[in-house]
Amino acid sequence: MSTVMKQERAVAINPTRSCAPIGAMLSAFGVHGALTINHGSQGCASYPRHQMARHFREPIEVATTSLTEKTTVYGGKENLIAALRNVWDRFHPTMITVCSTCLSETIGDDIPAIIEEFQDNNPEVEIPIISVKTPSYIGTHITGFDLFLKEVAMRLPVKSRKGDTNGKVNIIPGWVNPGDIRELKHLLREMDVQPLFLTDYADTLDGGYYNPRPHFPQGGTTVEELQDSSRSVASIALQKHIGGEAAKVYKKRHNVPAHILPMPIGLANTDTFLATLTEITGKEVPLELQRERARLLDAIVDTHMFNTGLKVAIFGDPDLVHGLARFVTEMGMIPRFVLTAADSKAWGDDMLALSEELGVEMDIMYKTDLHELHKRMKAEPVSVVIGHSKGKFLTDDEKVPLIRVGFPIEDRFGYHRRAVVGYRGGMYLVDEITNTILTQRGNIVSNTLMELEDADTPVMNGGCGSNGGGCGG
Ligand code: SF4
Repeated sequence: MSTVMKQERAVAINPTRSCAPIGAMLSAFGVHGALTINHGSQGCASYPRHQMARHFREPIEVATTSLTEKTTVYGGKENLIAALRNVWDRFHPTMITVCSTCLSETIGDDIPAIIEEFQDNNPEVEIPIISVKTPSYIGTHITGFDLFLKEVAMRLPVKSRKGDTNGKVNIIPGWVNPGDIRELKHLLREMDVQPLFLTDYADTLDGGYYNPRPHFPQGGTTVEELQDSSRSVASIALQKHIGGEAAKVYKKRHNVPAHILPMPIGLANTDTFLATLTEITGKEVPLELQRERARLLDAIVDTHMFNTGLKVAIFGDPDLVHGLARFVTEMGMIPRFVLTAADSKAWGDDMLALSEELGVEMDIMYKTDLHELHKRMKAEPVSVVIGHSKGKFLTDDEKVPLIRVGFPIEDRFGYHRRAVVGYRGGMYLVDEITNTILTQRGNIVSNTLMELEDADTPVMNGGCGSNGGGCGG
């Protein structure tokens, strides 16, 4: 029977989470020409910049109000006013996001009031300036990302007349990689649906090398598009925990129907996404996407003899873990341990419902850390772990392979370009998981796995694979 556990320990050991402002900063990078001011100490800007630069391998420009001991005592208003002025004078951005930090929230700076005063005194600065409350004690990086989207949904879209639509569908992808956004664009192009991404950092955080360097990175959703998003025919949030609330804001304020879906990883979840597009637009799934689906199914069949029955541990952001858990089950594996750092009982309940639907026993853990996962893996070994780079130390200790998915991937290159969503993302995952397991476990001879001598976790290689026959699927 599956169990749900919330960590009550007062300390995190080997945490998987990042701090809240990084989420708001990341999502703001998806707005063309936008700049973020981090209202806090210099470290509150440096840490997220380093984290993002190591994952995306791009220069990450974020301004800081650089609070010190003096401003901590007397308040950071003067620094924020000066930062807004400097950023405007030097960059002329299309939008400014001010994210708060543990420090500025604890001081009690009234950031919306400071912004209002700045705009009153500087009427020439005619751009949206939004503030997002992101002290890290209210949540994790996903909280910051989600709050930014909610703020955009509340502040930017303009009122539209009833029935006046732009024919587009708001797509709120949540915390994904640039490669995932490109894959979603591919699906939407094939479905002949015009998307409006909230937001789109496919190019701003995975750009090319240009000489001279452009003033702002190419790509991103424009402020005008965000203002027009109230005229879209529907909103689809592809992560319940990041963007689901923003979709509800569009519904409530602008009567844009909201569809909150599971992250489209694997067969069933991608089917759901495409079926929703059909429901909204009346357009059928084209032959090309049906072929991609058939190829993913074929890839799962081709590899089932090496994956079926293997136990997996998955950690990371709530929606990512939810999507991956369903997908590895489609591959015949057992998502034995699933873990997130987010303090979300709703996620725990969703995972419990998923485990019952799939008929698999899971240990479901939230608001917890890798120490907890490590403990459980020692008592009950798994064949593979899926998660980001922070899992490297426990997988090295346990001599279990780590499939790198999520954020941050700082010890490998190019993972931000890879997609895990859509049928093609599923094919990538099938290959990556299977090949990693095979590399760890042994050699393939005539389609049969000859296990290495020191392999201590059983690998199922029976069925069609064990007779050396050609199970080509
Ligand atoms: S003080 Fe808070 S906001 Fe700043 S880096 Fe630390 S956790 Fe993040």
